[in-house]
Amino acid sequence: MSENHEILVRAERVMPGGVNSPVRAFRAVGNEPLFITRAAGATLSTVSGQTLLDFVGSWGPAILGHADPDVLRAVHRVADLGLSFGAPTELEVEFAEKILSLYPSMEMLRCVSSGTEATMSALRAARGFTGRDVIVKFNGGYHGHSDALLVKAGSGAATFGSPDSAGVPRAMVENTVVARYNDLNALTQLFAEDGLRIAAVIVEPVAGNMGCVPPSPGFLQGIIDLCAQYGAVSIFDEVMTGSRLALGGAQEFYHCNPDMTCLGKIVGGGLPLAVYGGKRKIMAQIAPLGPVYQAGTLAGNPLAVTAGLTTLNKLQPAHYAELEAMGARLEAGVLRSIREGAHAACVQRVGSMITVFFTPGPVRSWEDASQCDTARFGRFHQDLIRSGIYWPPAQFEAAFVSLAHGEAEIDQAIAAIDRALSASA
Ligand code: PLP
Repeated sequence: MSENHEILVRAERVMPGGVNSPVRAFRAVGNEPLFITRAAGATLSTVSGQTLLDFVGSWGPAILGHADPDVLRAVHRVADLGLSFGAPTELEVEFAEKILSLYPSMEMLRCVSSGTEATMSALRAARGFTGRDVIVKFNGGYHGHSDALLVKAGSGAATFGSPDSAGVPRAMVENTVVARYNDLNALTQLFAEDGLRIAAVIVEPVAGNMGCVPPSPGFLQGIIDLCAQYGAVSIFDEVMTGSRLALGGAQEFYHCNPDMTCLGKIVGGGLPLAVYGGKRKIMAQIAPLGPVYQAGTLAGNPLAVTAGLTTLNKLQPAHYAELEAMGARLEAGVLRSIREGAHAACVQRVGSMITVFFTPGPVRSWEDASQCDTARFGRFHQDLIRSGIYWPPAQFEAAFVSLAHGEAEIDQAIAAIDRALSASA
């Protein structure tokens, strides 16, 4: 038995599926999870001694590459002063000032410890602010695992939600409406019918959790305008896109000004940290200023805000041009392979987010994404792992290019993807 398998057997005895988050279990690709010992730059090392070229980046945070020396130094320095105080620090203020300078749509924010908490708390703030209950999300949009957001749509432009997960009472989701991504007409219709009951619309400005799906022109601004017209709150869930597409996130990239924003992943620099924030009048609803309660023992943890702040201070606009160039090189290489091999696949990318879909595409919504040949994706993924490429282990995820990926790493991935496309056919 391999060392990896031995650890997996132990892990499965003590944790569901042997993991602390389901997608890590590799079940969607018919494989075993790889146990990691360390990461540096663009690579991961496994317990079996394999070195993998990483395009998961801890599911987003590792934009600088793993174990960035400046981030590590800063975290070590702060760790020496104590790990957690449960009391405010100047570091949190500095972090908040930095975020607000990068995201001018936000006037105030609060730190939490996960993206799930950020979206859940933003919705509570929006409901408290508007005095309304209904929230709108899009089919295929993932906003963490809080009850009200674990909903997908049935077919049709918009349906009232039914729970996606066992253990979520119907009552928890009866105020969640699910609409089709990139379908502004359906959303307009929904507002025309029920707009005065809608507290908020929450959207991934570039969908990453159905694979990489860019917004259609006018879709994001349309959401903001409809919310403004009906007195609802527009919420951009930028947990994935925040400081990934531009320093100021998708809202900078697409020139949008949402009422509220959720951030996570990159802004925590690899430690557990997320943010929700927005217009001052909405954030003034939060305790102790207002009646909406939200709290956290480890919120704004000094190590986490230091990792986040150091990461954000290192990122410069020129880095996003680099990420765009490497992303474009990867996309062009994959597209060439798809065309030359006449594979029933397409590649979609925004900046450093990219997905190879096993459907001819284009993929504009969950309804399109669900046409993918997921069995073929599983074979594709297994072949990539054999070639030493660590790609997200599910069809409906975005892969990430980091600043540690140069031309050599991108070309290595292109060659492996070319082989995996043929091997999976
Ligand atoms: N929102 C989006 C867009 C995400 O991609 C994720 C996680 O992948 C979340 C929210 C939840 O974040 P977390 O896993 O930190 O709870």
